[in-house]
Amino acid sequence: MRILVTGGAGFLGSHLIDRLMAQGHEVVCLDNFYTGTKRHILKWLDNPYFELIRHDITEPIRLEVDQIYHLACPASPVHYQYNPVKTIKTNVIGTMNMLGLAKRVKARFFLASTSEVYGDPDVHPQTEDYRGNVNCIGIRSCYDEGKRVAETLSFDYHRQNGVDIRVVRIFNTYGPRMLENDGRVVSNFIAQALRNEPLTVYGDGSQTRSFCYVSDLVEGFIRLMNCDEIGPMNLGNPGEYTILELAQKIQNMINPGAEIIFKPLPEDDPKQRQPDITLAKKWLGWEPTVPLDQGLELTIKDFRDRIEGNQK
Ligand code: NAD
Ligand code: UDP
Repeated sequence: MRILVTGGAGFLGSHLIDRLMAQGHEVVCLDNFYTGTKRHILKWLDNPYFELIRHDITEPIRLEVDQIYHLACPASPVHYQYNPVKTIKTNVIGTMNMLGLAKRVKARFFLASTSEVYGDPDVHPQTEDYRGNVNCIGIRSCYDEGKRVAETLSFDYHRQNGVDIRVVRIFNTYGPRMLENDGRVVSNFIAQALRNEPLTVYGDGSQTRSFCYVSDLVEGFIRLMNCDEIGPMNLGNPGEYTILELAQKIQNMINPGAEIIFKPLPEDDPKQRQPDITLAKKWLGWEPTVPLDQGLELTIKDFRDRIEGNQK
């Protein structure tokens, strides 16, 4: 198959491309390199079955493809809040352009949505039928509401135009290739501990998140894309940790002498998050296989190679 991956030079997109190329597909990667980098896809650049297009999805594009994995959108709060209007354009106009493309060429369309559609949830763990608690005028809303509209657009193109859609709600995912300046919690703590800087816990660290290793998530993506259910479907690891527990774990793994300091909690920061993955188990026979400790070891190794490599 010829498969388009938008945001393919990013963290999740590049891991997905590795899997699709290994399966023998032709892959077209489309990215504007806002948070992505050519380094992530370097090994495919000379492969005749791989094409890289520098393109911003807020502009239309004509391509012939069989499947579209639509991942283009900055995922870290630091990056999506840097230019919130652009984030909304990417989620709304960009998603509309990609759905228009899917409609024209009759491609199956996969939307990378997010657990952020549940906002600061008052149902725990979160099931797909929970409608969420999102502040529509807050600093996270360019992303939360942007993704909610992206889901709405997907379902409207499906009902109105018969576009074949798949919608996944991704919970916090981590792994090798996260940028050192990504701003998300796992990458911040690992980079800080390796540099012997204090680990910055926001608030008192009692808020929770559930962390999924990237290879598990990509396996779920491919199963959902190729099954008969359209979603929305949660994919994530139900193991739930407080942010302070995560800081202590990374501190112990890298640098027990590292300091932990507390900084103000950002506005609208969700207090708890854990996926209910009953649907993924039932529809896809999927559940995560990589425990947090093992995933962190692999991620720490990747950061160590980069950070210590740069210092040489
Ligand atoms: P990332 O920031 O590493 O990757 C996003 C990619 O999209 C980057 O390569 C970036 O350059 C590209 N991009 C951004 N705006 C673009 C535009 N207008 N046109 C073309 N390309 C553009 O983030 P990620 O962690 O790989 O996330 C990928 C997708 O998964 C995003 O849609 C994100 O919302 C979703 N998601 C990720 C997580 C997670 O924990 N990683 C959780 C929930 C949802
Ligand atoms: N966080 C933190 N220190 C950091 C970065 C993040 O304590 O250096 C907290 C953040 O406030 C949030 C959690 O870790 O409660 C997860 O943050 P992240 O940005 O990774 O993802 P999201 O909030 O989008 O789930």
